[in-house]
Amino acid sequence: MEDCIFCKIINGEIPSNKIYESENFVAFLDIMPINPGHTLIVSKKHYENMDELPGELGEELLRVIKTVARAIVKAVNADGYNIGMNNGRAAGQLVMHAHIHIIPRFKEDGLKSWPQKRMDDSKLREIGKKIKKEIDKI
Ligand code: AMP
Ligand code: ZN
Repeated sequence: MEDCIFCKIINGEIPSNKIYESENFVAFLDIMPINPGHTLIVSKKHYENMDELPGELGEELLRVIKTVARAIVKAVNADGYNIGMNNGRAAGQLVMHAHIHIIPRFKEDGLKSWPQKRMDDSKLREIGKKIKKEIDKI
């Protein structure tokens, strides 16, 4: 894809700190890390988001995530890690080329978890029903 920064990294037009590569994915350090070791796992082919990523790549992707996460935790002596993926602008996706964030976490890193909200049981049930209906259509 023209004008896609991650495609440019993958085809070598733009440099990156690449740490790992598999058949269909590359992993390189995020240029503006949340914590040291923050890494992006990126599909070699240009898929926009999770919806477009072929399901057949799931097993390989999980393997890459686990390998890279284990290595990061050891390398930076992390206490844990988050796996994140932003899908769509509303979810904070800035680069429209599918990628997974591995964010090492430290006990006192000061990062807050997402703000949760209370919700009525009836509303929870209603939303659950709607989602189940949509799942049946897939
Ligand atoms: P997202 O909001 O999930 O689309 O995240 C995009 C991520 O890509 C951000 O965390 C950026 O810091 C990161 N990023 C943008 N440009 C580069 C680059 N040239 N090399 C490495 N990471 C980048
Ligand atoms: Zn791309």
